[in-house]
Amino acid sequence: MKFKDKGLHHITVIAGPAQTNYDFYTRILGLRMVLQSVNQDDTGTWHLFYANGSGEPGSSLTFFPFRHASRTGTGTGEATTVSFAVPTASKTFWIDRFREFDVPVKEAFKRFGLEVLPFSDPDGLQLELVFDDAAKELPGWDNGPVPSEHTLRGFWSTTLRLTETETTAKILQEVMDFEPAVTEENMHLFRTGSAIGNAVLLEKAEDSNMVHPGRGTIHHVAFRARDRKDLELMRQKVIDLNLNIQPTPVIDRHVFESVYFRTPAGVLFEIATDPPGYASVVEKEEDMGKELFLPPWLEPKRSEIAAKLDPLEA
Ligand code: ZN
Repeated sequence: MKFKDKGLHHITVIAGPAQTNYDFYTRILGLRMVLQSVNQDDTGTWHLFYANGSGEPGSSLTFFPFRHASRTGTGTGEATTVSFAVPTASKTFWIDRFREFDVPVKEAFKRFGLEVLPFSDPDGLQLELVFDDAAKELPGWDNGPVPSEHTLRGFWSTTLRLTETETTAKILQEVMDFEPAVTEENMHLFRTGSAIGNAVLLEKAEDSNMVHPGRGTIHHVAFRARDRKDLELMRQKVIDLNLNIQPTPVIDRHVFESVYFRTPAGVLFEIATDPPGYASVVEKEEDMGKELFLPPWLEPKRSEIAAKLDPLEA
């Protein structure tokens, strides 16, 4: 299959209180916390990372929790929705589980031939389960509260709501290795050949409606680069598109290296390397996400940083 190592890397969202966020994603959705760290650009804030059992790119949803962030809803020029792939046979399990934990659910519908169950997290972030039997072959997190056969298997897609889709389509195809797949009404599906996190939906909006970011807002969407060399190549491709985009230099995030740029349609994109990954900061994989991780340049300030963070019982 073509492009088997390209697609979504991680998605980062602004959240409300850290504990509420942790409880929802690990105890209800059954994701694994693969890294607890701080926002490197604002070290008084947590950066919490959830993913499948091995913390693979394409499964990783991360959050900047702010206790007092207000809810603002979704608009245009942003990523609005995160969708997870789940096997078809798990539908009843999830409907029952959402009822048990009072998770707000909307009516299921069909899109691109697959059943979609929309729901939301405690901050109002729009989430979906996409029931897709291709998910059966993919790994979830087997030591969480959700039985193995029903676990979330990484991202199915993310949806970007845009008043102008052409430039983003160009970036997806020429830099991120996506190909146009299907169009249904105002929804354009782009895919790679990766097994996990291989889809982006461009939703064409009629009217512009820019909303201030708040809790439940997707901060940025990150795409995969194979390594540092590929990252630099992809960064150059962004510049060569002649869309007047100036990406940041390569930034070392310790668990990956990254480049950021805002698309002409308004969404903050990141390109992040697969290596070294979340497991690289622990000696044993079973210890992933158990303790506050700080990159070496922040380690000398550990006690000062830890004292400023909201308490989190993980
Ligand atoms: Zn990121």
